[in-house]
Amino acid sequence: MPPYRLGAGQRQLWTFPGGLHLPDEKALSNHAPLASAPLPRRLIIPLRQHIGAPAKPVVAVGDRVLKGQLIGEAQGRLSATIHASSSGTVIAIEERPVPHASGMSAPCILIETDDEDAWAELPPPLSARPDPEALRERIRWAGIVGLGGAAFPSSVKLTPAPGIRVRTLILNGAECEPYISCDDRLMRDRPERILQGARLLRDLLGVEACLIAVEDNKPEAILALRQALVTDGDAAGIEIIAIPTLYPSGGEKQLIRILTGQEVPSRGIPAQIGIVCQNIATVAAIADAAFDGKPLISRIVTLTGRGLGQPRNLEVPIGVPIRELIEQAGGLSPRLRRLLIGGPMMGFACDDLDIPVTKAVNCLLALTPDEAPDPGPALACIRCGACAEACPVSLLPQQLYWHARARDLDKVRDYNLFDCIECGCCAVVCPSHIPLVQYYRFAKNECLARDQEKRQAEHARQRHEAKEARLERLEQERKANLRKKKEGLADKAPPPPPGAPVVGALAPAAVAEDPKKAAIAAALKRAAEKKAALASQGLAPKNTENLAPAQQRQVEAAEVRRSELQAAEDAARPRE
Ligand code: SF4
Ligand code: SF4
Repeated sequence: MPPYRLGAGQRQLWTFPGGLHLPDEKALSNHAPLASAPLPRRLIIPLRQHIGAPAKPVVAVGDRVLKGQLIGEAQGRLSATIHASSSGTVIAIEERPVPHASGMSAPCILIETDDEDAWAELPPPLSARPDPEALRERIRWAGIVGLGGAAFPSSVKLTPAPGIRVRTLILNGAECEPYISCDDRLMRDRPERILQGARLLRDLLGVEACLIAVEDNKPEAILALRQALVTDGDAAGIEIIAIPTLYPSGGEKQLIRILTGQEVPSRGIPAQIGIVCQNIATVAAIADAAFDGKPLISRIVTLTGRGLGQPRNLEVPIGVPIRELIEQAGGLSPRLRRLLIGGPMMGFACDDLDIPVTKAVNCLLALTPDEAPDPGPALACIRCGACAEACPVSLLPQQLYWHARARDLDKVRDYNLFDCIECGCCAVVCPSHIPLVQYYRFAKNECLARDQEKRQAEHARQRHEAKEARLERLEQERKANLRKKKEGLADKAPPPPPGAPVVGALAPAAVAEDPKKAAIAAALKRAAEKKAALASQGLAPKNTENLAPAQQRQVEAAEVRRSELQAAEDAARPRE
């Protein structure tokens, strides 16, 4: 794909295949400066608002919590902490519906707010050039995840694997989905904070260039950032770049292509080619955590669409129910046709107004029939190829559709289904109105479920084999121990002390001198005779056969004791 220039002296940019020019509709919501949403009576804070393992609650029902207090601990490396968005009392920890395309439920911490909005003690500010590990630890503590919608834990993304040298940091302010304007407003209203965050990450990664990319349909945002850059004391290596407005230029791989001409490998990550991307809202949140000690407890949400009374952007506490946000935006129009979480291209239907805002929710979009006309029933594919032309990843959407429909999962993988970014370009241009992305999402879920089954089966097989091996090893150890014990007993058996009675046959001299000993000898003799008689009848006790020498001596010593007792009894008996 050839590069193109925007003008003399401007950085060379590249294009990506496909893509669409869409009506942006940003003016509906980006007219007013950012405002804060009022506190709700109740916060519903999901323990999983990120890619990776859910956080573990560290509070209990009945606990009073303060704003910014840790309430969920990250579980493992790919996880993120969760903090209370306001002060109040924990009233429940339970499963609740959360924003997700599947309409799933997940564990949430419910906080009854107390109107005090009292802060917990926050960590002190970091220096302007903090130690990299201290900054990473602060980002981890603050629970910062990608706020562009991916919700990937930022501390992980900012820790390149050993051997990887990151040379370019790209800050994504493209915000290419129609209607959404939360990043636009952030760039216009808080450009200094974004630059502070940019400097932190530039120094953390030691990059050669930090490129802040903004689509050219946001001239005010570009201007605000450039002005802040001029007044900033330390802007070395930071560049604000206006890129052409073309959906989906804000896709990570598409943006890298536009700015550098490089391709991220299929199913690879940008770090493999020395690039790290961060959304500009994430960068501002990192600056908040570093310089204000503030964890990620709020985010900017665009409330828009002609189905809302007053479209706008609000900074809202994480955990606010969608229903309360709708009230803040003038309520829903009776003409509402579709309510979406996210934009019109990649968003998903919102059927439950009690789901909360999470770190990944950037937009609530209420569309009227004019904005979302009924496409009518899907028709048969006419093999026009329009979907392939529009695909920004150079996939073959038509073939993917056929194989997904036939549930041929091997084939959809062969056609690189997992490179699909679900941008929706193919579905928008399809003259047959086939909901192509829904087929791809379905096929991805099927593939993931099958992979999961395979992993579980493999895990079970490995566990079984490990168990068998362990039992075999224990059996071998048991046998070896038994053998050793027998050998040890034989070796350790002490020789009889000098002068000790000879078991079974007392010394004749001793017997002659001592009547007691004579009685013992007589008793032993009787016992031996009795044993011989039993043996002659085949009644000899079997449990004394094959005894070890030491055991044999113990038995014989017992015989001696019994004989002594018998002799004592005989001696005590009156003579006839
Ligand atoms: S755009 Fe629609 S009708 Fe045309 S080839 Fe693709 S799936 Fe078939
Ligand atoms: S949704 Fe997937 S297949 Fe369709 S255009 Fe986008 S990347 Fe291509």
